[in-house]
Amino acid sequence: MVTVPDLVTPTWEYAPAPEARDIVTIRPSYGLFIDGQFVDPRDGSTFKTVNPATEEVLAEVAAAGPNDVDAAVAAARRAQRSWARLSGGERAKYLYRIARTIQERSRELAVLESIDNGKPIKETRDVDLPLVAAHFFYYAGWADKLDYAGFGPDPKPVGVCGQVIPWNFPLLMLAWKIAPALAAGNTVVLKPAETTPLTALLFAEICQQVDLPPGVVNIVTGAGETGALVVEHPGVDKVAFTGSTEVGKLIQRRLAGTGKKLSLELGGKAANVLFEDAPVDQAVEGIVNGIFFNQGHVCCAGSRLLVQESVHDTVIAKLKRRLGTLRLGDPLDKNTDIGAINSSAQLARITELVTAGEEEGATKWQPACDLPSTGYWFAPTIFTGVGQSSRIAREEIFGPVLSVLTFRTPEEAVAKANNTPYGLSAGVWTEKGSRILWMANRLRAGVVWANTFNRFDPTSPFGGYKESGFGREGGRHGLGPYLQGSH
Ligand code: NAD
Repeated sequence: MVTVPDLVTPTWEYAPAPEARDIVTIRPSYGLFIDGQFVDPRDGSTFKTVNPATEEVLAEVAAAGPNDVDAAVAAARRAQRSWARLSGGERAKYLYRIARTIQERSRELAVLESIDNGKPIKETRDVDLPLVAAHFFYYAGWADKLDYAGFGPDPKPVGVCGQVIPWNFPLLMLAWKIAPALAAGNTVVLKPAETTPLTALLFAEICQQVDLPPGVVNIVTGAGETGALVVEHPGVDKVAFTGSTEVGKLIQRRLAGTGKKLSLELGGKAANVLFEDAPVDQAVEGIVNGIFFNQGHVCCAGSRLLVQESVHDTVIAKLKRRLGTLRLGDPLDKNTDIGAINSSAQLARITELVTAGEEEGATKWQPACDLPSTGYWFAPTIFTGVGQSSRIAREEIFGPVLSVLTFRTPEEAVAKANNTPYGLSAGVWTEKGSRILWMANRLRAGVVWANTFNRFDPTSPFGGYKESGFGREGGRHGLGPYLQGSH
């Protein structure tokens, strides 16, 4: 008998607390950032970026074509030799300057990220931006210590890097890509995702503000076609891609035999494993953070909850109670827990998979929750009674949807957790340290969190097994892909 009261409405209502939007100036149109300047696209086409919470068009953005990508790669090539010839200490000065400027302008960047992406301001302000600055600080620290980083006595940069990133953490993914590349003496051509180009373009302004030598960072906006031009360009020596497994496989096939270095950070379907001896209230917070943080648009989201059968009913009752207190709405309101889905296409994908979950016989539950009438929204959702073969247990939903499965023994938990084509992350909730280590040794995941979830730190390597990709970002390991002869 589970005695958790069924709380469907919050104990009290908060007054709206909107963050001021006027700190950000969004221009009506943006060119490409090539060779230290904003330039009009030579190939001339543009696309619109919208605010997913309101469907308001924010700006017209250039779509780079073949000539634009040629120009960006040529600028990066011209800049690379002198950038690599600078001492590590000199490169570090630029990276520190970027990090400090990001801190100084963090409110502006956080507001812009929330407007363009739909994620709540409390996350952009308290998670994304501090991590972005920390990443630049961290790799600035490595720039003059490369000789002692374990990559041989005089490690050399790879050259020009083509980097393509997704929309779920636009500025953070940019930082993960650009900071280690520059520290190691490379130059970059980076393509942000088509639905979230604006903070990368503001970052380009920061490159100008800190007098970064022209051509060291080039930013070309556009959709998948532009991404393909970047990764397949013969002048690019190394490709770093973060995005879907589908596109990652395509890129790997295209680059086979070219001799280009490649790292892939792809999708995930992480298991969050909860044992009966876990501190349940703390675990419920971890489950919520694991799947509802950033609307579940997280590659390492704890999207499969594996809960020990003996505590299943208690955990689900407490989880439902907690979900009843989450606030969904205006991403710029400081009280908001769940913001907008990033695009209508992503909303359609989530809706399709949730329908499939119902059709396959799982039980769907959502808290009482008013969805705004404009914009793209999806209520936090739990599925119980999910079978291992169900699509919602196997496919990455990339939305605020949790699939709950059960287990009886630790062996069964491991078998079910590893029963996925992915291997990016996992979580273990138990009070026994020995069980944490036993599980961590057996889980095929690049990151295993113990009694926490979705913790990031620039000093810690991050990356996947199997269809979650290869290569590591973060930490000393994150330098390897940007140095010749290392991984
Ligand atoms: P996506 O693969 O559709 O797009 C990612 C980027 O690739 C975008 O910039 C897109 O324009 C570009 N692109 C599309 N087609 C391309 C092509 N043929 N060649 C080159 N570039 C191309 O993915 P998405 O929907 O933007 O992002 C969500 C995915 O990213 C999820 O699967 C998520 O798990 C993954 N992701 C992984 C990590 C990680 O570190 N492992 C981090 C964040 C997101």
